[in-house]
Amino acid sequence: MGEAVRHLNCSVLVVGAGGAGLRSAISASDVLGEPERVLVVTKGKLGRSGATALACSDRMAFHATLPHTEPGGPDSWKYHAEDIYFGGGEVSDADLAEILAKGSAEAFHYLESIGVPFVRRPDGLPDQFVTDGSKYARACYTGPYTANHIEEALVREVGRLGIPVREHTAVVRLLKAEGHIAGALCVDEATGDLIVVRAGAVVLATGGGGEIFKVNAYPPGTTGSGYGLAYRAGAELVNMEFLQIGLCSVGTKLACSGSFFRALPRLVNGRGEEFLYRYLRPDEVVDLLFRKGASWPAMYEEPTSRIDVAVQREVDGGNKVFLDFSRNPEALDWSRVDPEIVGWYRSKGVDLSDRRFSRNPLARLLAINPQSVEWLRERGVDLARGDLLEIAPAVQHFQGGVKIRPDGGTSVPGLYAAGEVAGGQHGAKRPGGNSLLDCQVFGRIAGESAARWAGAHRPNLEEALTELEELKEGTPASEVRRELGEVMSACAGVVRTERGLREGLKNILRLKEMGVKVDEEGPAFAAETSLMLDVGEMILRAAAVRRESRGCHLSFDDSGDPLPRDDGNWRRYIVIFEEDGRMTLEVREPIRPRWTT
Ligand SMILES: Cc1cc2nc3c(=O)[nH]c(=O)nc-3n(C[C@H](O)[C@H](O)[C@H](O)COP(=O)(O)OP(=O)(O)OC[C@H]3O[C@@H](n4cnc5c(N)ncnc54)[C@H](O)[C@@H]3O)c2cc1C
Repeated sequence: MGEAVRHLNCSVLVVGAGGAGLRSAISASDVLGEPERVLVVTKGKLGRSGATALACSDRMAFHATLPHTEPGGPDSWKYHAEDIYFGGGEVSDADLAEILAKGSAEAFHYLESIGVPFVRRPDGLPDQFVTDGSKYARACYTGPYTANHIEEALVREVGRLGIPVREHTAVVRLLKAEGHIAGALCVDEATGDLIVVRAGAVVLATGGGGEIFKVNAYPPGTTGSGYGLAYRAGAELVNMEFLQIGLCSVGTKLACSGSFFRALPRLVNGRGEEFLYRYLRPDEVVDLLFRKGASWPAMYEEPTSRIDVAVQREVDGGNKVFLDFSRNPEALDWSRVDPEIVGWYRSKGVDLSDRRFSRNPLARLLAINPQSVEWLRERGVDLARGDLLEIAPAVQHFQGGVKIRPDGGTSVPGLYAAGEVAGGQHGAKRPGGNSLLDCQVFGRIAGESAARWAGAHRPNLEEALTELEELKEGTPASEVRRELGEVMSACAGVVRTERGLREGLKNILRLKEMGVKVDEEGPAFAAETSLMLDVGEMILRAAAVRRESRGCHLSFDDSGDPLPRDDGNWRRYIVIFEEDGRMTLEVREPIRPRWTT
């Protein structure tokens, strides 16, 4: 650590400057009426860190139920809430789904009012499309950079209001006083100096934890340390076993959704073998490849998850896996394919009786999504030159997190959470487009609640400083992170077995036992690494307890067969908290819906 210790004061401390953090800061400032009483701290640079600022995909979705949204009528929010709650496998809190659905129109209009350029139809209404996991078209968008446009608009607004932001500052421990949250201990990323922030309330908006896994689709720096911060402060976490995992390009992190599979490429391993025939019947291959185009993340309830499982098994066996757009899959016989596939292409203006399209997946991809081919070429993968696209199942979203209630509050007084670090609002499946929404709706609510709560407690620094002192002994932090990533990707990816999870947990506990030592990456990196070990442990323990498959949690018995979904026992969620110094897991009943459609 550096020598100097700085002291700062604020009423509301917001940790993180992504979509959720910035929205919280704005609403806290609105309630307090004095922007300077809010302080945002973030790792990295404002507007250049986190998923909202940096993630992109072929078309990023923001869900909103607007007056013209299907199916229409005053109850249309209920269909939205149903997709979140029932689509999510009935293991989330239905009151939170209701808040999300009802708050979506306001969130959309707010973002538009501060300059997010959502696409509108020729008749002037916001354009909307259907995403994975939703019955109706409610995904608004600006294009591939919807999240980045949201971040830019919020950064402008925070600047306009004059809300103070401290960049390059990592929170490494939350501070308490008499059971309340009272501030945070931070490390200046450049100097290593400690900063003590005394705060009346804290909003945790630290995003997801892709970097806990070696194979992930997140931007750099998304460590998930917020889950660990909350856990060590005594908060409850929920649904930590539910992680969205889908097939992504390994080199570019692009999610290979939609058109990539609709183009019907070959899936080959490093030996050039079309390995899917070892996992699927030949007559299933083309059909499942096509359907994979409409169900991106691996979900137990979707037969297309068998493709993710096949890819994962190849990767586990030491093989690389590629999409090959130069030739048709062996089993593709146009005279026998489902007429739905031909019809779908016809609706896109592509005539499959034309040999240019019937013979070549790249021609089909260029016809339905030329931008993706260009996007990859700019990043060094030239499909036209015959380059293969390496893919693997990659973690893209944490569906669980710090357990929140309708006011954004957690089980620790004075601690609020919003965005991807929060949990309970999503279950085992998250319909695409609801995470960006969640950041705005619960970001606003958490900021308002924190501003109303803000008390004045003198934080107790002693325990936090002792924990940081411990970072002098152990394995260098970079080594710990590398090993953690490998363990988690191997044991808690698409294919989860009791034996694998047990083995993974043994490894994490060994790493914890050895301790984490500050290395050339600096003290903030080491402090976050030790929190990441807690998060890895939570995921493995929760996944081991849930002995069924549901949504994105695919559990296999040791002989390799998937365990079925068990609604009789498992329409419940797993809550994690620290008790007497031990990680404790409790199975609880979620809040059920009070609405019907
Ligand atoms: C490739 C990709 C595509 C996606 N597509 C969609 C989509 O189409 N629709 C959708 O709804 N969702 C999508 N998501 C998910 C969505 O983008 C994220 O869930 C959302 O942006 C998270 O926002 P957030 O504010 O919670 O966190 P982030 O935007 O990740 O921000 C976290 C902030 O916290 C800071 N931080 C973290 N830890 C600390 C610490 N210890 N101290 C200080 N600061 C800290 C970070 O620097 C950052 O500023 C996608 C995600 C990815 C990766």
